[in-house]
Amino acid sequence: MSNKPTIHISEVGPRDGLQSVKATMPTADKCCWISALAVAGLREIEVGSFVPAHVLPQMADVAEVVRHAITLPGLTVMALVPNRRGAQAALAAGVHKLTLPVSASEAHSLANVRKAREQMVAELRDVIALRNERAPGVPVEVGLSTAFGCTLQGAVTEDDVIRLALACVQAGVDEVGLSDTTGMANPAQVKRLFTRLRAELGARAGAAHMHNTRGLGLANCLAAFDVGVRSFDSSLGGLGGCPYAPGASGNVVTEDLVFMFEAMGVSTGVDMSKLISAREPLNAGLPGEPVYGMTPEAGLPKGWVQAPLSV
Ligand code: ZN
Repeated sequence: MSNKPTIHISEVGPRDGLQSVKATMPTADKCCWISALAVAGLREIEVGSFVPAHVLPQMADVAEVVRHAITLPGLTVMALVPNRRGAQAALAAGVHKLTLPVSASEAHSLANVRKAREQMVAELRDVIALRNERAPGVPVEVGLSTAFGCTLQGAVTEDDVIRLALACVQAGVDEVGLSDTTGMANPAQVKRLFTRLRAELGARAGAAHMHNTRGLGLANCLAAFDVGVRSFDSSLGGLGGCPYAPGASGNVVTEDLVFMFEAMGVSTGVDMSKLISAREPLNAGLPGEPVYGMTPEAGLPKGWVQAPLSV
């Protein structure tokens, strides 16, 4: 055992990424991609969302994808659910963890889930009651979307974000993270808001989910790390966005995030070269779709040796 600091990465490409591209990746390719991500050492993958197929046809096969993902050893399989009905289907398929989107911005909440924020907290209470009854071992987490600003509403106050995070904890959620859905965050804001979140929520303060819309994704992850955050969401090739937040674009690129932390001596548990190889099934399943990432394009620096992975 080394004393290296470690972080936890939750790969969100198969959900956040695939829901925001027009093409639908065939089920077999999704499964192949998820397997490659797990082989690279990613221990948690958000594999899809349980939403009606007419809303997001890209996610119509989510139950089948979950049934494949839960056969992969050591992998925590997470799915996004907007409500009790989605949670019911996700638990029936065998997911290990549920995540719900709760918007910090009222305008985004109405556009994304057609519910006011308080109604969404009520929905959360329903999902937690169902979890307690059917699958008490399955954690429920919330990503507070548009926590750093909203393309529809504009500024979102920090008091609003904290108030809503506390309401989610009161509803019984295990963890509340902050999402920069629209890529409006800056590092000073990230430090301020995560410091407050951690002070108010303690161990229930969750992941940083950053988008790279304005090129600040990695800087914002580092800012979060500096104030104690150890869980990060990212997506392979930077796929991602939000269909209901105009102008939102890709997530932080997993390859660049892993490179940054490993180069700093922070352990991610992810094998850099296997991670880059996981782009092949992504490209095969979504031919012609642009993928991003500076590290895969530039290659690993000469003489760069990744410290051995601790198992
Ligand atoms: Zn996102």
